[in-house]
Amino acid sequence: GRKFFVGGNFKMNGTIKTITEIVHNLSTAQLDPNTEVVIAPPSLYLLLAREHLAPHIEVAAQNVFDKPSGAFTGEISPQQLKDSNITWVVLGHSERRTILREEDEFVAAKTKAALDAGINVILCCGESLEEREKGVTVDVVTRQLQAVNKVIGKDGWKNVVIAYEPIWAIGTGKVATTEQAQEVHAAVRKWLADAVTPEVAEFTRIIYGGSVTEKNSPELAKQPDVDGFLVGGASLKPAFVEIINSNA
Ligand code: 13P
Repeated sequence: GRKFFVGGNFKMNGTIKTITEIVHNLSTAQLDPNTEVVIAPPSLYLLLAREHLAPHIEVAAQNVFDKPSGAFTGEISPQQLKDSNITWVVLGHSERRTILREEDEFVAAKTKAALDAGINVILCCGESLEEREKGVTVDVVTRQLQAVNKVIGKDGWKNVVIAYEPIWAIGTGKVATTEQAQEVHAAVRKWLADAVTPEVAEFTRIIYGGSVTEKNSPELAKQPDVDGFLVGGASLKPAFVEIINSNA
């Protein structure tokens, strides 16, 4: 079986005070030991989070560059994450694809650089409302994933968790229905079986993101191809613990 995986993407939220509180609460909470938990604070707070967080919870950066070091003002390298004991990175988030104009190929290059440096990747994909209405959801998602597959090859997937995040569900309170989520997750798994290997399809966690709350997470968690969540807004609240435990 695939280990249930719950990530908390804090986005550009928090202060030293609030992040210290969240980290303390998570570290002392009763968390389902069968669920892998990763939090992604803003880069400024990665070391603070790592220092105060219990060792059974991991830390992710929200972005990384695709070079090890050098004259790249404002960027952080996978090697620097590794050096700081930050073991994960979120890549391909729709906010970076749209607001920061990241292309599929750049997301792929960063994914490869992270994996080569020993950093695990939460790779996000997802369609806009317009794309869903046009019926091209699976085409869009598999195009985003294929760009990565081309450069990482089948061995790379061992250290990747795929996050399906329909853009129309992010921060909107409009969660995908359990059927909508399951349908895309199953299509992604079938794509992995066909385009990569059946083994990769079997072991790869495909998690759902977009308006996940403690109210909707138990039903979503029951879907056979929903292997966890990537939580935005609710990961900043005490109810994040209930979401983590929603598969128990
Ligand atoms: P919300 O949970 O706030 O909708 O955000 C989802 C998300 O983008 C996680 O990466």
